[in-house]
Amino acid sequence: EGGSRGGERIAVADRRRPTGAPSLLQWESELSTALEGGQLRLHYQPVLDLRSGAVAGAEALIRWQHPVRGLLTPAAFLPAAEVTGQITALGRWVTNAACRSLHAADTALPAAGFRLAVNASPRELHHPEFVTSLRQAMSAADVDPHRLCVEVTEASLISDLGEISAVLQQIRDLGVRVAVDDFGTGFSSLAYLHRLPVDTLKIDQSFVKTMTTTSAGDVIVAHVIGLAHSLGLSVTAEGIETSHQQQRLHDLGCDHGQGYALGRPRPTLTVA
Ligand code: C2E
Ligand code: MG
Ligand code: MG
Ligand code: MG
Repeated sequence: EGGSRGGERIAVADRRRPTGAPSLLQWESELSTALEGGQLRLHYQPVLDLRSGAVAGAEALIRWQHPVRGLLTPAAFLPAAEVTGQITALGRWVTNAACRSLHAADTALPAAGFRLAVNASPRELHHPEFVTSLRQAMSAADVDPHRLCVEVTEASLISDLGEISAVLQQIRDLGVRVAVDDFGTGFSSLAYLHRLPVDTLKIDQSFVKTMTTTSAGDVIVAHVIGLAHSLGLSVTAEGIETSHQQQRLHDLGCDHGQGYALGRPRPTLTVA
């Protein structure tokens, strides 16, 4: 009985998988090759100070230069890496590579302000060695913790608030900033926000998209900015694609902005 159910499940999985798309086992082996064979890349998207227009930092975004499938974005392979557990190794690669590029840019970095953000998935944050490997990455590359920020998605805060809170506090104790990514998409952490050890809210790009086309969108963004500021947090808007959106966010007092209108992710870290 179990056998036939299992067989059916595999058949269903196979039908769902488009021809030529890798199975989980293939992903696992190809991701190992990627990690060992230097196929991973970081692209860097500038974060601008919306008042001055100056570069305030950047966000590191992982890419996979796949030998056959070309340059892959995270949506194509991070879900598989989460399932196989390789996300931990990937995340370590990301923090190490981010610290190395900060070190390489060192003399070009402005004395104050420039900060590089790395993304961490819930599974990475829950790993007992996360904070240790972050500290090791910074010390190996001789990077000042104030140059770094860790972005965690709002959704990841919901699963286990107490445990995540403790990890975020340890990150901040190192001197590294913490940002809540995709804010507004995770539903329930609003009530807990004042208890979370975080520095920055990143307004999800879906709100930025609707803000200039619907009055509700504009109201939501205005209130998130007000909420963040009243809690003593800074605000970054994601996904700014038009100068109209940029202007409106500036007028609403949004601190920082990111988006194709301000700068696309690029393979090199640009500090000015
Ligand atoms: P995110 O952290 O919210 O990053 C912003 C995403 O929006 C990036 O997609 C960026 O390329 C894209 N973006 C930036 N400006 C615009 C814009 O104006 N319009 C539009 N439509 N998109 C814009 P990307 O690089 O594909 O990354 C997707 C997500 O994958 C990230 O969302 C983040 O959650 C995750 N991610 C990326 N790199 C890493 C990593 O190193 N580790 C982990 N755990 N997650 C990562
Ligand atoms: Mg992010
Ligand atoms: Mg985001
Ligand atoms: Mg996102």
